[in-house]
Amino acid sequence: MQGVFVRLAVLTGASLSLAVLLVRADEKTPKGPDEDGTKPALTRIAGEGMMNSHAFGFLTELSDDIGGRVTGSSAERKAEEWGTAKMKSIGLENVHSEKYTIWRGWTRGTADGELLSPVRHKLHVDAMGWTGSTPIGGVEGEVVAVNLFDLDNEIKNASRLKGKVAQVVMKGRPSKSGILIFAQFGDFLKAAGTAGAIAVIGGQGGGKSEGMNLTHTGILGFNADFAVPVVSMSAEDQGQLERFLQRGITPRVRFNVQNAFTSGPVETANVVGEIRGSEHPEQVLVVGGHLDSWDLAEGTTDNGSGVATTLSAAEAILHSGQRPRRTIRFVLFTGEEQGLDGSFAYVKQHKDELPNHLGDLILDYGQGAVKGFQMGGRDDLVPSFEAFVRTLANFQALQVDDRVESGTDTLPFSIAGLPGINMLQETAEYNYTHHSAADALEAQKPDVLTRNATLMALAAYWIADRPERFASPWPAERTARMLRAQHEYEELKAFNLWPYGDLGAEEKKANPQN
Ligand SMILES: [Zn+2]
Repeated sequence: MQGVFVRLAVLTGASLSLAVLLVRADEKTPKGPDEDGTKPALTRIAGEGMMNSHAFGFLTELSDDIGGRVTGSSAERKAEEWGTAKMKSIGLENVHSEKYTIWRGWTRGTADGELLSPVRHKLHVDAMGWTGSTPIGGVEGEVVAVNLFDLDNEIKNASRLKGKVAQVVMKGRPSKSGILIFAQFGDFLKAAGTAGAIAVIGGQGGGKSEGMNLTHTGILGFNADFAVPVVSMSAEDQGQLERFLQRGITPRVRFNVQNAFTSGPVETANVVGEIRGSEHPEQVLVVGGHLDSWDLAEGTTDNGSGVATTLSAAEAILHSGQRPRRTIRFVLFTGEEQGLDGSFAYVKQHKDELPNHLGDLILDYGQGAVKGFQMGGRDDLVPSFEAFVRTLANFQALQVDDRVESGTDTLPFSIAGLPGINMLQETAEYNYTHHSAADALEAQKPDVLTRNATLMALAAYWIADRPERFASPWPAERTARMLRAQHEYEELKAFNLWPYGDLGAEEKKANPQN
């Protein structure tokens, strides 16, 4: 910056346009660690991260000793205690939990399915989260197809589902975007329940399971629950039923699905610990992953990996002896799987402090290697972050873009105009472990986890320590325009999460009568 002031001082009024050009040119070459003085600290952190990491040990404890930890359950509470104890033993400051409630709790019971005719065998099913039960002892009925791509009519004709099992199929072409179909699928489930459908066969967003003989559980909206039992079925079983339906054969099935809801809200908490900044402790970068998981397995990759990465990143920075200029606040969110409830609660509870935030940095794409960073809507930050990743070339080439990731705890920060930074990962294997019975420790390679944790530590430290503040929140209008340009408006509006009214919409033509 100093160079700019020197140049400006010697310029006369006539050269003002040149001065502007010089200032712009200077701003366009942002400083990376080689120029901004952070390199020596980053080098130490990289050494600690790669040589002394306990990431896989953290992940092993969380996976094997606690296991599946659905928000609001006793296992999840145990995970909060574990996370708090770990943060303290690592040496983080100001370790505490921040309580909030989710609208209602849910516990999985049993889910049994059987194909009765035209052939007889067991069906591999598991209940989707926050869905209901069949009568005790089970119930049988005929399977009928409902078209996910024609939900308008399926909702209108829901009365035909009385006493039937509705199997979601995809016929023809979708007339709306995937996210609007996902939102309308909730309306369909309500209509099917009201009509007296026995059960619905349809996984996440109504889609089919991926992987060999796997089911995938999940929530069917933001904080959404449904009285009708909805099951995820293995692709093999669902495919067979679908082929019967296509041939005009009506399969007959029996389901016994038992789940339990709580009568009201349940308490949960985000787990928080800090490395306080040396110069601007009031300025905060949030770094984290989510502590809650689904319950068909150990919740290793979703998102034990993110939890272990976060703890290991904190450890690497602390053990390096380097203290950043600004505060790094490590947060293990809960409620992510029910609709990003923990990160929405954080943004609400820290509303007054948000102007002092720099953004959040999240890893929640499973077990794969980190391949890039997404700036959560903040295109203005891409050049400076690119200058940072250039110094990580020995790890691998890392991509940087400005995309908003709406599927994890980055979203509430992006909505607030802050960079909700998503660590983009390889996902070939995550497609199978995501929310399934395969989400266990076997899925995570320790070396990849260690490397990801080190990258998180380096990114967090650089953002918090670079001489110039990395980011401040954008004003509401600029944020609203960005969210619309990134096609987030549709989804947020459909789930009642859009906070900006008409802000950022294209200006309507002036009406002379007004
Ligand atoms: Zn997740």
